[in-house]
Amino acid sequence: MKFGTYTFLPEKTPGFDFQLFRVKPEVGRRMPPQPDMYSNIAIFGDNVTARNHPDWISQSPLGPAWRTNNNYNVRWDVLCATQPEHRAEQLDYIEEVARNSPGVWLNSIHFAEHGHCTCPRCHDLWKKSGLSWLEWRRKEVTDYMAQVSERVRDRAKKKFVIGVLPDPVTSYDRFGINFDDLAPLTDEFLVVMFSKNYATPWYWEMLTRAFKKLFKEVPLNISLYVFGPGDDPREVPTTNELLTVSVRMARAGVDNLLYLTEKASQITDFQKAALAQVELRERLRSYGGKPVQEYLDYVQSWDKIVE
Ligand SMILES: [Zn+2]
Repeated sequence: MKFGTYTFLPEKTPGFDFQLFRVKPEVGRRMPPQPDMYSNIAIFGDNVTARNHPDWISQSPLGPAWRTNNNYNVRWDVLCATQPEHRAEQLDYIEEVARNSPGVWLNSIHFAEHGHCTCPRCHDLWKKSGLSWLEWRRKEVTDYMAQVSERVRDRAKKKFVIGVLPDPVTSYDRFGINFDDLAPLTDEFLVVMFSKNYATPWYWEMLTRAFKKLFKEVPLNISLYVFGPGDDPREVPTTNELLTVSVRMARAGVDNLLYLTEKASQITDFQKAALAQVELRERLRSYGGKPVQEYLDYVQSWDKIVE
């Protein structure tokens, strides 16, 4: 096992085997590669390019992949994964960075999320392919990664690492990623695990999607601990967390939700606390379509029975 650092500034720290520097993070800012640090490049998550070419943003039935679109887990602006000028420019850029550093580690190699991209170009490419929608997306991601791999490994003769999001089961449905396709193209994989204050509900949403896919037609019930017997009050989830996670599960397709406590009075406490979160519930309305609205309507209906 080796240990590395992963930094936004080109600063090395003693006591590690290797260093990974964010030459081009998702904000789109570009810094010169370092001769003794691996280079990390985000391809389609790119705020700067999105600002310069707003027509390149990825499209979907739930709106474009601007970072303000709460229907998706996008924390930056995501471009259409088939945009030809961006693809070509990034290929040359990645090869150049590879030649000036020990290797390239990629992020944001894929479609923005499920349902993306529905721009006219993607629609035409899909129709011409004769493939199913998901298989066409897979082919687009794999083919482009084959081109990038050739630039880094064969031409620049440097190490190449593909980064993927922390979703082992539904990355194909959501992002167009097939791990078996990518394995021969990369030297290693990197899975970026997000910080707690950034997107912890990601994991509950991801697990919900995974179980829905594995259970197929059998309905999925999920139980959330509100207050278990003997739980330390400092360690139980907040009402804010329970509502947010419930909404994220609703949009991921959970069929039924259960709230677990020792006593009925603790459920009533939760209902009152949920009703008091007026601003949060209003904000969560923007987190998804029909299932999210139904969940929030249900919570709202508690005001008729809870004092
Ligand atoms: Zn597109």
